[in-house]
Amino acid sequence: MADTSSDTPAGARGLEFPCGPAPHTGSAKEVAPGVWWIRMPLPFALNHINLWALRDGDGWALVDTGIGAPDTAAAWQQLFAGALPGPVTRVFVTHMHPDHIGMAGWLTRKFGCRLWISRLEYLSCRALGADTGREAPDDAIAFYRRAGWDEEALETYRARFGGFGKMVYALPDSFRRLRDGEEITIGAHTWRVVMGNGHSPEHACLYCPALQLLISGDQVLPGISSNVSVFPAEPDANPLADWLASLDKLEREVPAGVLVLPSHNEPFRGLHQRIAALRGSQHQALERLRQALAQPRRAVDVYGALFARPITADHQLMSMATGESLAHLNYLVASGEARAALGEDGCTWYRRA
Ligand SMILES: [Zn+2]
Repeated sequence: MADTSSDTPAGARGLEFPCGPAPHTGSAKEVAPGVWWIRMPLPFALNHINLWALRDGDGWALVDTGIGAPDTAAAWQQLFAGALPGPVTRVFVTHMHPDHIGMAGWLTRKFGCRLWISRLEYLSCRALGADTGREAPDDAIAFYRRAGWDEEALETYRARFGGFGKMVYALPDSFRRLRDGEEITIGAHTWRVVMGNGHSPEHACLYCPALQLLISGDQVLPGISSNVSVFPAEPDANPLADWLASLDKLEREVPAGVLVLPSHNEPFRGLHQRIAALRGSQHQALERLRQALAQPRRAVDVYGALFARPITADHQLMSMATGESLAHLNYLVASGEARAALGEDGCTWYRRA
């Protein structure tokens, strides 16, 4: 999943969007030789995801699959009956968020083909899927209490716990591992895996030098910034450092002139400009956070420093905002610029060092 917040039209300034409007659900649009753009609906504020079909011999290699839901299955059926005839040869998944991996198990079973994914994304998805049917763990409740959530928010968290698995069709029991730097022949072309992290544990982008294309997943998006969050299973994680390092890596390894095929919004040119804008807005956010930490603050107290729009009681929005606030706070703690202390109220209070 990606964030729906915290970006401005200024962030997209200077980008070109040469592919025109998105294809309708159930249809596909060729954006480069043998590379087709598919769009699927999502039941969130961010209401769509882009998927890609690559000519692979007589069939199609798919990149990402849509959220596990009957609507997505119906749209795939429509595609196989029309725009994408012929078998699916393999299913690539950039990362394990439900909008990307949701239908992977359905597609691989339907066509008897394999799932190509990084090891950490596969294993993380299996682990999160196993939470469905469990009670919310004490560690997770304590994590959100330390962040400053009240009892009502914690109760909503308990009620919704395990929701991840409900959006993901059962994964295949084995997979083909994607490795950083690996070169993979798909149809007539070679694609290179460019791994990144911070948005998810081991996110794969695919770069094709011959076609000058980058399938960027959620690592770089043109209109919104990627969600970079701390989650209860690893409360001391520093995903913002990982994400910023991954932007640097993409800038080094992928040239500025590629056409970027992102998972949300429209294909664009201007990769390096976009990376610079994303990096710049994160550094501005960190600077506002440093100012805010002149006084002791909890994670829930710093939304105003980090997000342009108000964070309402909407549970999904609040979860994302809390995870992102903690990502920024952990970044400053890791760099020695802030200190964290557990208060008598059970909340963690952060202050500039
Ligand atoms: Zn994602």
